[in-house]
Amino acid sequence: MARKTNIKRMLKDIENEAKFTASYTGRERFSDRVMQAMGDVVRDKFVDSVAEDYAYDNGPLPIGYGQTISQPYIVALMTDLLDLTEDSVVLEIGTGSGYQAAILSKLAKTVYSIERIPELCESARARLKMLGYDNVETLCANGYYGWEEKAPFDAITVTAAAAHIPQALIKQLKPGGRMVIPVGLPYMHQELMLVTKDQQGNITTDAILGVAFVPLVTEKE
Ligand code: SAH
Repeated sequence: MARKTNIKRMLKDIENEAKFTASYTGRERFSDRVMQAMGDVVRDKFVDSVAEDYAYDNGPLPIGYGQTISQPYIVALMTDLLDLTEDSVVLEIGTGSGYQAAILSKLAKTVYSIERIPELCESARARLKMLGYDNVETLCANGYYGWEEKAPFDAITVTAAAAHIPQALIKQLKPGGRMVIPVGLPYMHQELMLVTKDQQGNITTDAILGVAFVPLVTEKE
């Protein structure tokens, strides 16, 4: 079946890119759990039907409203950096198509995901429900302020680039928690940052890799 072959190729592409970038990311390969999730989630169900033929290419794809679903390697890298366990509670800012939320849902206990564009939020919610990702809860709102009622989180992933790391998100991270966020200006240099909070609440930030993301909207709506 074509899908099976395409997924196999996608996993190989991710493996190769992980090797190429290991000197930046510190990760020669991603965990078996992450690769298993990448192999299990059918990406063709998350893109427009016109893009279905490209669904397993290792590149970003349009999802409407000027937004994109990240390339599979970046989704795998961001997910791997979170070091999730089956007990993790995760917050995602930028549900988009729901693809990364689906990957996270396979690796964590609960996934909370926020999307500000109502049409994308509603369609991702319906799609995740239809595909049976029952441990994902979505919120149609501005995620710049996090999700106070559900905090604190073991892990936070932001799938849009901000000029700075939102203070609310740092606050909502559990001691021992990890956050992955692209930081930089739109269409300028951006760095994927890993933010860790130790048991005493001290914050460490590490620049992992140069990336290109759509902007995180920061103004209050
Ligand atoms: N993770 C998504 C990709 C999302 S692209 C996927 O797997 O498909 C980034 C998304 O972030 C866009 O849908 C955009 O609308 C959303 N976004 C940007 N700023 C936001 C904000 N402040 N709060 C919530 N969502 C935001």
